[in-house]
Parts: sequence; C-alpha cells; structure tokens
Amino acid sequence: MEADNIFHELLQRLEQYHRDLTEGSFVRYHEPEELKAILRLDRPEGRGDWTELMAWVEQYLAYAVKTANPGYLNRMWAGANLPSIIGEMVTAVTNTSACTYETAPVSTLMEQYLLRELLELVGFSHGVGQMTTGSSNANMIVMMAARNNACAQSKTVGLFGQARLVAFVNRDAHYSMDRAAAILGIGTEQLIKVATDDHGRMDPQALEQALLRVEQEGGVPFFVAATAGTTVRGAYDPLEPLLALRERFGFWLHVDGAWGGAAVLSDRLRTRFLPLLEQADSFTLDFHKMLGTALMCNVLLFNNRPDILRDICSAGDESYIFRQGADGEIRDLGTQSLQCGRRVDALKLFLDWKFYGLEGFGRRVEGYLELCRYAEQRILELEELEMVVPRESFNLCFRHLPPPGVSAEEFTIALRNRMQQLERGLVGTGYVDGQLALRLLVTNQNVDQGAIDTFLDNILLTGRELIAQPPAE
Ligand SMILES: *Cc1c(COP(=O)(O)O)cnc(C)c1O
Repeated sequence: MEADNIFHELLQRLEQYHRDLTEGSFVRYHEPEELKAILRLDRPEGRGDWTELMAWVEQYLAYAVKTANPGYLNRMWAGANLPSIIGEMVTAVTNTSACTYETAPVSTLMEQYLLRELLELVGFSHGVGQMTTGSSNANMIVMMAARNNACAQSKTVGLFGQARLVAFVNRDAHYSMDRAAAILGIGTEQLIKVATDDHGRMDPQALEQALLRVEQEGGVPFFVAATAGTTVRGAYDPLEPLLALRERFGFWLHVDGAWGGAAVLSDRLRTRFLPLLEQADSFTLDFHKMLGTALMCNVLLFNNRPDILRDICSAGDESYIFRQGADGEIRDLGTQSLQCGRRVDALKLFLDWKFYGLEGFGRRVEGYLELCRYAEQRILELEELEMVVPRESFNLCFRHLPPPGVSAEEFTIALRNRMQQLERGLVGTGYVDGQLALRLLVTNQNVDQGAIDTFLDNILLTGRELIAQPPAE
C-alpha cells in the first residue's frame, strides 16, 4: 500500500463500515484489559508502513462502537448525517483553523451565513452568534457574558471586592452549569439549584423566593438559565414566568436548548415547547444531538447585543493574527471566540442544512417525538415495565420491575450491564427524584418502531434471565 492510493484503500474500508452499521450488534464488547491485549498498542513505531497503518485503522473500526446501530440508545447523539460526515472528511483533508478569514475563507462565510439564518429563525434581532465546541462551553460563554453584563469591570479587575453574583438553574440542569460557575469565579455555592414542579420544570415561585432571598442578603441575581429539555427527564422550563421575573430583577435569561432546543426547527413543536424563546437573551442548541450533525456541532446565539462576543472575548495583544475588514467589520471569527485555533465546524452543518433544509430537520424532530409516544405506549402496555415518571417530551424514564427482595436500582443496573455485555443494546440511565431509571432517547435515524420493539423485547428477555438467575455477588 502506498500514499498514492491510500484514499482508495481507506474509502473502501469506510464504505464497508458504513454499510454494516445497522447490521448485527452495536459493539464487540470487551473489558479494557482484554481490549488492550487484543489491540497491542505498544507494537513498534517509526516504520512508515502504510499497510501497517491501514491495519491499525481496521482494528479501530472493528472494535468501535457503532453509534448509528439501532441498539445504541445510550446518549443524546447517535450516528451522524451522511452530508455532515462528508463535510468532516473534507474538513480533515483541508485541515485549517476557522479563526481567520485568510486561513478559512469559505468556512468563515458559511459560519456567518448559518448564524444569520439561525438568528432569524429563532427571532433574535441585532444578534450575534458563534459555533462553539458544544453546549457545555456555550453555557460557560453565556454565563461569562452575563457576568460582564452585571459587572462590567469583571473582565479587568476580576471579582475582587465585587458584590456577590448569584446564578439560578433548574435543579436538574446540566452539570456544565456547575463547571461554568467554578471556572468563572462565581463559585458553585453561588449557583442556586431551583426546585422543580412535578413535571421537572423549574418552579417559578421557588425561583422568585430564591431571587428575593439573594437580594435581601445583598447578592446580585445576574443569571438565570432555563433548560429546554432537561438531560434526564426532558422537561422544558416555562419561559413566560421567567421573562416576567427578568423584568423585575434584571437578570440575564439564557435558554439551554442543547437537547430539546431542536424543537425550534418545527413550527408546531416550537409553539408547544418553546413559546417566547425570541425574548430570551441567549440560546444554545447542539446540532450534534437530535439533529444528527457529526460531533461536535453547536450553535450559540445572542439576542440584541451585536458586540457582546467581541467585548467579552477579546483580550491581550491579538494584533499579530486578526485583521479587520476595510469597513471595520469583523472578518476573523477568532476575535469573538475563547479559542485561538478553531476547528472548522461550519462545513458539515452547512452541508446538512442545504441537504435537509429546515423542513427536513423539522420533520425529523417531529418523527422522533412520534416514536417517543409509541415507545411510551408500549412501556405502559407491558406489565413487566413501568414509567418512573410520565414523559414530558423526548425522554422516556422507565424501568423493569424487580423480583421480590431485589431493589429496583440494583436490578436496573444489572439489567443495563447485562444488555451491554451481551451486545444486545446500550441504554442510558439517570436518577429521577432519587430513583434510577433507564433513559431511552430516540435520536437515531435508524431507529423506527421495529427497533423500539426489538429493544423492549431485549429488555424483557434480559429481565427474565436475571430473574431466573439473580446476579451473583
Ligand atoms: C448535552 C447537554 C449539554 C452539554 O452539551 P455538550 O455539547 O455535550 O457539551 C448541556 N445542557 C444540556 C441540557 C444538555 O442536554
């Protein structure tokens, strides 16, 4: 094998891998020690041998988790859209950084184009946006913007001697909020976890009480994040009462739509799940989750503050790298970013956007919700299974009933692990009000009603086996 024909050789293997994705099991399961022994990563290097290189690739593919397989139901993303995979391949071959126009002219224009389209779709006027490395970082950038909004000197003098800044989130909010509070000098103790109602939505009355208490104690409520689709339950925090509280308290209102924000792509679902989104201060949406763009693909949007990213991100002497357009317009997206090198994420999203269009994406999200409804119906019909809480949107939190004398939690863990080890399927788990649930998410284009039936059949089979032969301690 030579460098000259390496793409030919590679593409054959990738094509085969891609064709087989939905066949058989989602993985060849091995414990780390076994896999280490198989892979033999410490074989000699430095031989410059393309045949040997291709053998490494084959090995990688052989033991990779086939995330597009319908048995893979574990995470908020699965597989990837073929247009975006093509985008990723082109991105890799052209290898550049999307921080300056001069190194990434087409991707810069594509990113600006996509952001304008999405700002318009969401209804943010005079806004600005950015493709970031995911919603965890998007949440942090937004919290940083809110911090600077509440305390303009924080960028230069830090938080020394400043009033105590306090942030508020749904108690089921994503853990990236805690990290953001830790990184930004807010401190996790200043991240108030607000109680939820019985749907898992942030309780506006509990938020109001917490806001009043913080103000009485001399704190500054600077940031509230609504979650649009909580990670475990899929609850949507209600924006209307939160917007009313923003009028009174003057905080920044962010919407973390990493998962459930995808509803914005369907008029019908937007009306149902995201009313008044256009009035929020910022919004993050992961295209790499329900929408299937290759990892990582995030869009972060700001309302009404065209200069905010430049204001918070620019620091130090950047003159060696960034140029302004003749009209003073920003042409280097790196000036508005926390990174220096930026991976090109725009091409893959652009190709997806052109290939499926808004309507295609909207139909997909609606179809997923339909499948969730179907799965819920089936779970309710099967007497071995029960919903741990009713479905709010796209997430199904359920479990298999344990046999007498076994705790539901222990049984859920044993069932999940056995499913994985026997290569029957990989499903997530999460705690709802202290109870461990299997969390089924439909976010895979290869999952249809038949795949859901197969998955549930496998759960019943595994449950029967475990009950017949309880796990040895
Ligand atoms: C997935 C998720 C995140 C984190 O997003 P990444 O892109 O994985 O960093 C944040 N918030 C919510 C609600 C999520 O579901």
